[in-house]
Amino acid sequence: MKIFYSETHRKHNPPFELFDGGLRAPYLENPDRMDRILNALRETDWAEIHEPSDFGLDPVLAAHDKEYVDFLASCWTEWLDSKPKDPSLFLPATFALRHHPQKPKSLLGRGGYYIMDLSACIVEGTYEAALASANCALSAAEFIIQSSASPSSSSFTNHPSSFALCRPPGHHAGKDYAGGYCFINNAAVAAQWLSSKGNVAVLDIDYHCGNGTQDIFYERNDVLTISLHADPDFEYPSYFGFANERGRDKGFGFHHNFPLPKGTDDGSYLATLDRALELIREYKPMHLVVSAGMDIYADDPLGTIKVSTEGIGEIGRRIASLKLPSVIVMEGGYNNEALGRNITTFLSAFV
Ligand SMILES: [Zn+2]
Repeated sequence: MKIFYSETHRKHNPPFELFDGGLRAPYLENPDRMDRILNALRETDWAEIHEPSDFGLDPVLAAHDKEYVDFLASCWTEWLDSKPKDPSLFLPATFALRHHPQKPKSLLGRGGYYIMDLSACIVEGTYEAALASANCALSAAEFIIQSSASPSSSSFTNHPSSFALCRPPGHHAGKDYAGGYCFINNAAVAAQWLSSKGNVAVLDIDYHCGNGTQDIFYERNDVLTISLHADPDFEYPSYFGFANERGRDKGFGFHHNFPLPKGTDDGSYLATLDRALELIREYKPMHLVVSAGMDIYADDPLGTIKVSTEGIGEIGRRIASLKLPSVIVMEGGYNNEALGRNITTFLSAFV
C-alpha cells in the first residue's frame, strides 16, 4: 500500500495547549504520534512510504476561504511583530459568535474569528506543516486516480487504496476556521479534488464529529458526507454533529451524522457502521475518502467509546468490502502506545 508522509509535520509542535478550566498541558496532538505509526508501518511487508508531491495552493483554496488561508499564512509573523509578552504560541482569548457579520481587523480579533477553540495553537511551522499534510492527502488521491486509470500498472486494481499519514489532522477545520488540532481539512481537500472526476463519499470514523468536512460540503450533493462520532451532547465539538443536521439546499439529504453514546462497544459500533455503509452503497460514489481517527479505541485518553483493536480491524474490513477506490486519511488518535497497532490493523483490511 502506498503511504504518503512528510517530515514537515515536525515544524508544528506547540509547547502546550489549554484544556477546560485553563489547565496548560503538553500538546496531545504531537509528533510522537507519527513516529509510533511509522514504526508500526515499517514492520509490515506491505507499507511503501513516499514523500507527497506539491500541489500548490489551488486545491486548498477550492475547499477553504482565501482570507482564512491568508490568516494562517501570515499569523505567526504578525504575532511576532506585535511583540507579545509570551511569544511561545499564538492563541486568541476572544471568540467570534459570528452573529455579527463584521470581520475584525486586529490579529487577535481575526484569531478569534478564524479559530474555534484553544487546541488549534499556531506556531512558526504550523502553516507549512498543514500544507504538507494536505499534500499527503492530495498525493494519496492522485495515486488512486492514476492506478485505477492504468491497467498496465503493476499495482492495478479497480479499487485501489492509499493512506495519507497526515499531521496536523484536518476534519475539524471548516471552510474558514481552525479547531480541534486542525487547520486545513486534508480529507475535504482530497474529496474536493476527487469530485472533479465524479461523486465522492467521505466517511468519518474519528471519535469526534467531522464538523469541518460537514461545513465544507453541507450544500453539495456531489459529495456525500457521513460521520460516526460521540454524541455532541456530551463531547467536542458540542455545536455540530447532531442527527438532525442533514445538509442544506441542494445538499439536503447528503449529510448524515450518527451520534453514539458513551461506552459504545464493537457490536453496536459495527451495527451503526453498517447503516452508514448502506447509505454509501445507495449513493454509488466513484471514490471514497475515509477520515480515519483512532480515538474510537477503548483506551484513548480523549475518547469514551470502547472499540477494541479487533473491532478496528473489522471496521476496516467492512469499509474495504465497499470495493471503492479509497483514500484513507489520518485524523485523531491519542493513545500513542496503541496507535501504530491500531492503524496497521485497520489498513491491513485494504491491502
Ligand atoms: Zn478525534
